[in-house]
Amino acid sequence: MSHYEAVIGLEVHVQLKTRTKLLTRAPYRYGEEPNTLTDEVVLGLPGTLPVLNKAAILKAVQVGCMFGCEIARRCKWDRKNYFYPDAPKNYQVSQLDEPLCKGGFVEIELEGAARNIQGEHRKVALNRIHVEEDVGKLTHNSDGSTVDFNRAGVPLIEIVSEPDMHSAEEVFAYLKSLEMHLRAVGASDCDMEKGQMRCDANVSIRPTGSMALGTKVELKNLNSISGVCNGVRHEIQRQIRATEAGEAIVQETRRWDAEKNDSYSMRSKESAHDYRYFTDPDLFPITLSEAQIEEQRKQVPELPFAKQERYLTTLHLPYTVTSVLCPDKRLGDFFEATLALYDKNPLSIANWIANDLLRESDNQPWESLKLTPQHLAELVRLVDDGVISKQSAKDVFLAAFQTGEMPSKIVKNKGLEVSVDTDELQTLCEEVIAAFPKPVAEYRAGKEKALNVLKGQLMKRTQGKVPVSAIEKVLAECLKG
Ligand code: ADP
Ligand code: MG
Repeated sequence: MSHYEAVIGLEVHVQLKTRTKLLTRAPYRYGEEPNTLTDEVVLGLPGTLPVLNKAAILKAVQVGCMFGCEIARRCKWDRKNYFYPDAPKNYQVSQLDEPLCKGGFVEIELEGAARNIQGEHRKVALNRIHVEEDVGKLTHNSDGSTVDFNRAGVPLIEIVSEPDMHSAEEVFAYLKSLEMHLRAVGASDCDMEKGQMRCDANVSIRPTGSMALGTKVELKNLNSISGVCNGVRHEIQRQIRATEAGEAIVQETRRWDAEKNDSYSMRSKESAHDYRYFTDPDLFPITLSEAQIEEQRKQVPELPFAKQERYLTTLHLPYTVTSVLCPDKRLGDFFEATLALYDKNPLSIANWIANDLLRESDNQPWESLKLTPQHLAELVRLVDDGVISKQSAKDVFLAAFQTGEMPSKIVKNKGLEVSVDTDELQTLCEEVIAAFPKPVAEYRAGKEKALNVLKGQLMKRTQGKVPVSAIEKVLAECLKG
């Protein structure tokens, strides 16, 4: 397949996480009763006028700053006119030729050679980011169609990439990166299943080595990140097969059917919509001062890839654990907060979060967690100071997670403090050595691993209260003696 190179550009719509809609105070929350989050502006009743949501614009500016876009000081609003039941006003407020943000790029990480190896990074160029309003949601079933206007008027940003990706793998990395960055600034939760992030993919092919762009096909109805990748992969192959069979690619929009793993033509260029755009007469252009833009730029936090680099180089954490902590703002914030309380063992803190906390908190709202950075900092310190063993720490973690009690208190109540009575430990070692002559002989014959049997027995007999290091030390002395 090396005769052709795929060229892909994505148009990604993202719902901004604001309390109210773009042009009115009506609130928005996902999953409410249909048509309960509307008002006369959303429904386009005669005589109503829009009032712009400043928070939405400032959030969009922050996203633009994060991706290195040029932010417009002044830009206008346009009406995109069309007659369809999902648009109560019969137009959508959007930005046609004066987007809020221009240029910029999204850094992506391609898949590494193995799970524990960092992949190559590259930048995907952006064309623009503009702001518009969402439309209602139509549902079609056997006894007719229904419409829910809760979603209508929700602020959207449309992030338009340059035709700068060349494989389904790059598309995957791009969407993952968008999701991670937009969550990092709290712009959106980007849940594709809830429609918070939606993607149209433009795909063309060209002979390898050529710089000219081929005729593009737009894919719609891509409902998950893996759906986008499957659709793109399929479309690249379809175009290569058609081209090799001597057929011309026609510019068209195709609908992806994830279940059938196939696409169908929806409309060709000739039947493309004419939206009769014109400047919205009800809305003033957006004007932004240098100070307002700078304020948003300053609010961009340390970005996930920069954070990961810092964890790798200054905290010396393994790549695998950073790749769990950094893309997930909740985990990263928990890590930072714990480290701020106790900075002597970043690796242990990172491991507790990436393994135990992540596993235990599954299916539980993060805000309702009883375990806090205070708990974790105290737990790691108790282990590091030799107050409790690593085995007891697992129990203490679970108890703290379930009850919210502080680890030191749990340790006291359960009597988990390490009590290394060397005489008693020595007696136990001698008992075990006498009871297991075979591994003892093997160990003396040079088989280091045979020691594990003895260690296991001693851990059992000390009920996990004695640190392995103490057991190893006394056992070694007894074996010598
Ligand atoms: P249109 O006017 O048809 O909407 P745009 O120029 O606005 O086209 O581009 C829409 C999207 O399609 C952008 O993400 C862009 O990168 C992508 N795109 C444009 N031309 C091509 C092409 N030849 N192959 C693949 N993607 C393309
Ligand atoms: Mg376009």
